[in-house]
Amino acid sequence: MHNQLLMLGTSDGVASPRRNHASILLTMCDTVLLLDCGEPCSHTMVKNGTPADLIDGVLISHMHSDHVGGYPMVIQWFWLAGRKKFLPVHMPGEGIIPMRELLKATYLFDELLKFKLEMKPVKVGKTFKVGTLDILPVGNRHLEGFRVSFQKKYHNPFESFSYRITHKKMSVVYSGDLASPMDLDPLLRERTHVLVVELAHFEPENLFRMLAEREIDQIVITHLGAHIQSALPRTRKLCARYLPKGKVVFANDETVISF
Ligand SMILES: [Zn+2]
Repeated sequence: MHNQLLMLGTSDGVASPRRNHASILLTMCDTVLLLDCGEPCSHTMVKNGTPADLIDGVLISHMHSDHVGGYPMVIQWFWLAGRKKFLPVHMPGEGIIPMRELLKATYLFDELLKFKLEMKPVKVGKTFKVGTLDILPVGNRHLEGFRVSFQKKYHNPFESFSYRITHKKMSVVYSGDLASPMDLDPLLRERTHVLVVELAHFEPENLFRMLAEREIDQIVITHLGAHIQSALPRTRKLCARYLPKGKVVFANDETVISF
């Protein structure tokens, strides 16, 4: 297996006629990870010839629907395709009980599954392993505004994570959703082979300026805000002011990036 990203969905949280919601299939050092499950990720994986038993684990960045909306369907796909391989799902702890309930409510009972499904809570700064990969979760401030507005009434922890995924010297950083580009700072202190970064929640120029000062081989821009999608040539031009052209990919759905 060669190292690659298959971009399953590159839209932001706004339903789009042209782009799917956030989901990426990462193949790295013989391990395959599904990063977020925005819908319709099962459809897009099957369309691209992904077997149900290929995926070694799932990482969820946070519980917004554009990142988890396709999760029950992934489990239904694996059930009906007869998957047998253990599936660890690393996700915000606050989502585990609601997601278990959603699986029950959609008749995806443990007894039906021929594979063991384990949803595990992610803890900031606590590295875990999936296959050959070490995964470091770092908290970001994406849900801070919601925390301020809603935590008194809804007692969720409002968890949102970015991930640094490594094997020996190879590294991929996945931003998830952010509040500002500086949320990525702790993840980019060492050289990074590939950064997959969202572009919906801040000014593009702030991101490009920040990335120009970091040691990153390849940058993949995804989760494009509706306002960015409609002005892509202008954003590319702005990007070229800060970053060399070959270094940045503005991803579309089903773009494949080898590394
Ligand atoms: Zn999002």
